[in-house]
Amino acid sequence: MTKIAFIGVGNMGNPMARNLLKAGHQVTAFDVVPDLLAKAAEAGATAASSAGEAVAGAEVVVTMLPAGKHVDQVYREGILGKAPKGALLIDCSTIDVATARAVHEAARAGGYAMVDAPVSGGVGGAEAATLTFMVGGSDDAVARARPVLENMGRTIVHCGGPGNGQAAKICNNMMLGIQMASVAEAFVLAEKLGLDAQRLFDVSSTASGQCWSLTTYCPVPGPVPTSPANRGYAPGFAAALMLKDMGLALQAAKASGADVAVAEKAASLYQDYADAGEAGKDFSGIINLIRARASAE
Ligand code: NAD
Repeated sequence: MTKIAFIGVGNMGNPMARNLLKAGHQVTAFDVVPDLLAKAAEAGATAASSAGEAVAGAEVVVTMLPAGKHVDQVYREGILGKAPKGALLIDCSTIDVATARAVHEAARAGGYAMVDAPVSGGVGGAEAATLTFMVGGSDDAVARARPVLENMGRTIVHCGGPGNGQAAKICNNMMLGIQMASVAEAFVLAEKLGLDAQRLFDVSSTASGQCWSLTTYCPVPGPVPTSPANRGYAPGFAAALMLKDMGLALQAAKASGADVAVAEKAASLYQDYADAGEAGKDFSGIINLIRARASAE
C-alpha cells in the first residue's frame, strides 16, 4: 500500500485513480471541480481541499491536468515544497516538452524524483487499466514509477531522460493526425472516382497504405464496425485533443528546428474542423470537412 496524491480527476484521472484504489493504494484526490472530486471520493479516495493538502504525507504524487500551464502552476503552488522531500512525482498530463523539462528541473532542485509519463489509450484504456505510458526520467525514478504505472496501464516504455515521454507522445500523435487526414483524403478521392469504400479498405488494409487510422479507426462507416464513423463520430479521441497535440508538435518542431510541413497542413485541417463547431467530435470526422470541400468544387 502506497500513499498516493492524485491531482486532476477528470475524464482520464478519475478511472486512473480508481485503478490505484483497486490495487490497494491509499489515494487522496484534489480537483478544482467539486463534483469531480466528489465522484473520486465516492470511489474511495479521500477528498482534499487543495493540492497542498492532498500531497502532505504522500509517497507518490500523480497529476493528470489539461495542459502545461496547469502543471506548472500546480507544481509551483501545490506540490514543490509541500510534498515530503524524496516523494516521487509522476506527471501523466500531455504537455509541451519545454514545460515538462522546466518542471523536472524545479522538482530535482527541490529534492524530488520525477517522471513525465503521458499516456496513450484514451478513457477506455484508463478504465480498463490498459494505457501505454511513455516515460521520461532517470533510471532510478522510472524504476520507482513502474509498479505504480503498472496498476493503471499495460505497456510502459522508458523513452529516455526528462521530457522524453512527452517527446514520444507528440511524435506519435503527430503521425496519427497526419495518417488520419491522409486516409480520409484517400476515401473521399475513392468516392469521387466511383471506388467502393469497402473495396478500398480490402486492398489498403493488406497493402502498403495500411496504418492504425485505416485498420482500427476507419473514418467511413462499415469496414471497421467499432470505429467512431459508425456512431456519428462520437469520440473516441476528440478533434480538440488532436488539435492540442498537433499544436504541441508544431511548437516543439519550431523550437528544435525540425521541418514538419505535412503536419502543419494536417493541423490546419483540424483547426478548420474545430472552427466549424466540430471540436467535440471524434478526430476521424475530419473526413466530413474534406468531403464537404470536395463537393463544393
Ligand atoms: P479533463 O479536462 O477531463 O481533466 C483534467 C482535470 O484537471 C479536470 O477535472 C480539471 O478540473 C482539473 N484541473 C485543472 N486545473 C486544476 C488545478 N489547478 N488543480 C486541480 N485540478 C485541476 O482532461 P482529460 O481528458 O482527463 O485529459 C487529461 C490529460 O490527459 C490532458 O493533458 C490530455 O491531453 C491527456 N490525454 C487525454 C486523453 C483522452 O482521451 N481524454 C488521452 C490521452 C491523453
